[in-house]
Amino acid sequence: MKMSKLFVQTLREFPSDAEVMSHKLLVRAGYIRRLASGVYNYLPLMWRTLKKIENITREEMDAAGAQELLMPFVQPEELWQESGRWDVYGKELMRLKDRQGRGMCLGPTHEEVITYIAREGIKSYKQLPVNLYQIQSKFRDEVRPRFGLLRGREFIMKDAYSFDIDEAGLDKEYENMAKTYTRIFERCGLETKMVQSDSGAIGGSVSHEFMVVCDNENNAGENDVFYCEKCDYSANSNHAVSILPKAPTDGGFTKAQVVDTPNCKSIEELAEFLKVEPSVIVKTLVYVADKKYVMALIRGDKNVEEIKLQNAVGANEIRIASSAEIKEIMLNNNKTAEAGYISPIGIEDITIVADNSVCELKNFVIGCNETEKHLIGANWGNEISLPEKITDIRLVQEGEICTQCHSPLKVTRGIEVGNIFKLGTKYSKAMNAVYMAEDGQEKPFIMGCYGIGISRTAAAAVERHHDEFGIKLPLAIAPYHAIVIPVNCKDELQMKTAEEIYNKLLNAGVEVVLDERDERPGVKFKDADLIGFPYRITAGKTLAEGLVEFKNRSNGEVMTIKPQDAIDKIISAVNALK
Ligand code: ATP
Ligand code: MG
Repeated sequence: MKMSKLFVQTLREFPSDAEVMSHKLLVRAGYIRRLASGVYNYLPLMWRTLKKIENITREEMDAAGAQELLMPFVQPEELWQESGRWDVYGKELMRLKDRQGRGMCLGPTHEEVITYIAREGIKSYKQLPVNLYQIQSKFRDEVRPRFGLLRGREFIMKDAYSFDIDEAGLDKEYENMAKTYTRIFERCGLETKMVQSDSGAIGGSVSHEFMVVCDNENNAGENDVFYCEKCDYSANSNHAVSILPKAPTDGGFTKAQVVDTPNCKSIEELAEFLKVEPSVIVKTLVYVADKKYVMALIRGDKNVEEIKLQNAVGANEIRIASSAEIKEIMLNNNKTAEAGYISPIGIEDITIVADNSVCELKNFVIGCNETEKHLIGANWGNEISLPEKITDIRLVQEGEICTQCHSPLKVTRGIEVGNIFKLGTKYSKAMNAVYMAEDGQEKPFIMGCYGIGISRTAAAAVERHHDEFGIKLPLAIAPYHAIVIPVNCKDELQMKTAEEIYNKLLNAGVEVVLDERDERPGVKFKDADLIGFPYRITAGKTLAEGLVEFKNRSNGEVMTIKPQDAIDKIISAVNALK
C-alpha cells in the first residue's frame, strides 16, 4: 500500500468530545469516524484491526470445536415473548415494527434465536454436544454511550452458545471456552483477568468476565475488580464478597431512646455528634426497583452494591430514590422525615432488605422517621424487627478480607472484553427447546453462552498500548506490520532503496506501507507513530554507509542496520505470529 493512496485522514487535534485515550487516538489517527451517538464508521485501518481480532477469535473457536454460523441482526418479537424477555429487557432493546405492524428488535444478543435454531434442528442426544457461534454487529440502545468503541450502541460481538445433555457437559465446555478466551486475548497481545461476575440480563447462575486491567487516570475501566494477591480469587464488584475486618458492633447505649441529632444528615456527622463509630449505625437507603420502593439497611461504614440489591428483590432495573420520592413514602405513612433520618420503623407496605452486616449489631443507632432525631440503643426484636430479607447487598472495599485465604483484598479497574455464562435451562425451558434423551425422555438443553466484544477489545488494546505520540497496537492486531519511509523522496538512492525494501517485504507476505509522499520527514514520522506501525524502516542519510534506520514502535528501540537485516527482523516477527 502506498501512503498517498491509503484512505486515512489524521487530525492535528484530539476530538473535543472524547474522554478516554482509545477514543481520542482512534479518531485522531483516522481509524474511526462517528456517525451518530455510539455509532461509528470503521474506516480501513480500523477494519483491518477488527478483522484480525475476528480471525484470531475464529481460529481459536474453530480449534476449540465450535462451528460458525450467522443469525439475522433483526429478530421477531414472538421469540422474545417466548423467552419472557420482551417485557423485561428494558430500553437497551431497540424495538421496531415492520410494515405489517409486527414487532421486531435489533439483536442485542442472540439467546432466543439460537434456542429456536436448536429447538428446530436438534432432535436427539446423538446430535449433542454442540457449540455454535457468530461474529456480528449488535445493537444496544445504551443509556450512556461513551468512550468511543468501548461503549457503543452498535458494536461487534462474537457470541457462542453451547448445548449439552447434562451439567457435566456444560462444565466441560465452560472450561474449554475459558481456556479458549485466555488464548484469544493473549494472541491479541492483551493480558486478561478472569473474574467472577453477576449474570445480568443474560441470566443463568455462574458467569465469569474477562477483564483488561485499566487503572489509568481517565477511568476507561468501568468495572471495579476485587482480587487477592495470595490466592486466585477475583470478582467484579457486583459479585465480590469479603469478610469484614473487626469493627465495633455494640453501640454501648444502655437504654433505647429517641434523641435530638441536629444537622446530622450524614453518617459522619451523626457518628461525630453521638461519639460512636459509624459501624454501630444502621443506614437506611431508599431505592426504586422496577417502579417499587425498596428500603435497604446497611452498616453505617459500608455501602450498598446496587446490582446485589437488584438481584435480592428480583428486579430488572434499580436506582436510588429522589428526595421527592422519599417525601412521598413519608407522607403515605404520616411522617415527614428527610433522608438521613429515615428507617423502616412504622413504615408500611415497602420491601425491606437488610445486609448481613447489620444483623449482629447491638444497642445501635437508627433513624426514627423524624427529622433531626435518631433512635439510640436499639436492638433487633425490640424496637425494630429484623426484616424478612437478609442477604449480602454490601459493596466490598479494598482491604477487607478474602473469603478463600483470609488475606486483604485489593481493587483495580477493568474493561470487560469477554463474558462466559452457564445458562442451564433458562432459555430451553422457557422456549420448550427439548431433545430426546438416551432413556427416551424429552429433556431441555443445558446451555452456556460466551461473548467477546470484538470492537471493545480493539479499543481496550489501544488503552493498554499507546504513548504520547500515538497508538502502539501489538503486531498481531495492528492494521499494518510495517512502514518504509524514504526521508527525501527527491533523493534517488533513498527512494530506490525504500522501494526495494518495500517490495521485498510485500513479497514475503508482510503488510507494509510505503510513505512515498513528498512531505517533510517530521510529518511522515508523526503519522507513522500516530497510526502505530509496529516497525519502521527509514531510508535516509545513513544510506551513504549502506545502512537504514530500524525502529520498533512498541519498545522505542532504534537501530542503524543493513536493509536486509531490517527486512529479516520484520519477516521473522511476522512469521512468529502464525
Ligand atoms: P457491559 O456490562 O459493559 O454493559 P455486558 O455485560 O452487558 O457489558 P455482555 O452481554 O456480557 O455485555 O456482552 C458480551 C461482550 O460484548 C461484553 O463482554 C463486551 O465485551 C461487549 N459489549 C457489551 N456491550 C458493549 C457495548 N455497549 N459496546 C461495546 N462492546 C460491548
Ligand atoms: Mg457481560
